Amino acid sequence: MGLMSNKKGIIFGVSNKRGIGYAIAKQLFNEGADIAFTYAGETMKSRVLPCAEEMNSKLIMNCDVTNDDDIASVVHEFKRVYGTCDFIIHAVAFANREDLEGDFSNVSRDGWQTAMDVSAYSFVAIANKFKPLLNPKASLIALTYLGGERSVPNYNVMGVAKAALEASVRYLALEFGHSEVRVNAISAGPVKTLAAKGISGFDILLKVNAARSPMKRNVTLDEVGKAGLYLCSDLSSGVTGEVHHVDCGYHSIATSKEDAKIIGISA
Ligand code: NAP
Repeated sequence: MGLMSNKKGIIFGVSNKRGIGYAIAKQLFNEGADIAFTYAGETMKSRVLPCAEEMNSKLIMNCDVTNDDDIASVVHEFKRVYGTCDFIIHAVAFANREDLEGDFSNVSRDGWQTAMDVSAYSFVAIANKFKPLLNPKASLIALTYLGGERSVPNYNVMGVAKAALEASVRYLALEFGHSEVRVNAISAGPVKTLAAKGISGFDILLKVNAARSPMKRNVTLDEVGKAGLYLCSDLSSGVTGEVHHVDCGYHSIATSKEDAKIIGISA
């Protein structure tokens, strides 16, 4: 018996085998979970299908998370195929490329709304529509980044969206907790994925994180996946409303010896 035996759920935001969504799904599948997958548009379908088929998925559906009808169709089909739901993973984010570089205050009203809609509101909408299907002790997880708590060059409006997402996690945890449903976020350190390529200077971010973090390296996809398993399974039965950092400790430091070297003095 695996940790996720007899548990069925859905993941939004698997793009390919190098994404965080896939890494979490794989850990859940290895422990016996039955997983439904969604993709955003036909071009992504061909990328998501091999991931979903590898995990013997019974349900693979189109869902643009900014479209309420798409979300309603997914809920309807999920209910038909699985009846009830034990976990939801939200690994979806998007902001216009021009809003992920340069001066933050240049963000347009439209760019702000797009980032917020795709990256934060969609988690709340999905939780709300799945509410009637959630089993007691179900687990909801969203993916976030330190840029939601602190400023990070170029992360800009996505940082604002992640702050809203993290606050939403706490409010959903409060709303759903009475039926033992838990809502948490994983704050992953930088990983080179499809979405990450859209962030200007991402390679520099990777190098800085590896140099300054207490563990002196970047986090692996496997490590983020295992944190997803922990938060989805009964191993974390007392944990809700939490932003769990999986970033080799980067969030915990203020300065490091490397900072002294950067400004040309030895620590
Ligand atoms: P990814 O593999 O590219 O995943 C992002 C997913 O969001 C893609 O599948 C993308 O689909 C989907 N998406 C975008 N707009 C959508 C929409 N309107 N409807 C439905 N899906 C949509 O990149 P990732 O880095 O693994 O990202 C997964 C999550 O982890 C995101 O929330 C991200 O912010 C978070 N995260 C990433 C890092 C990192 O360093 N990579 C660190 C911390 C947190 P399309 O490609 O079809 O648009």
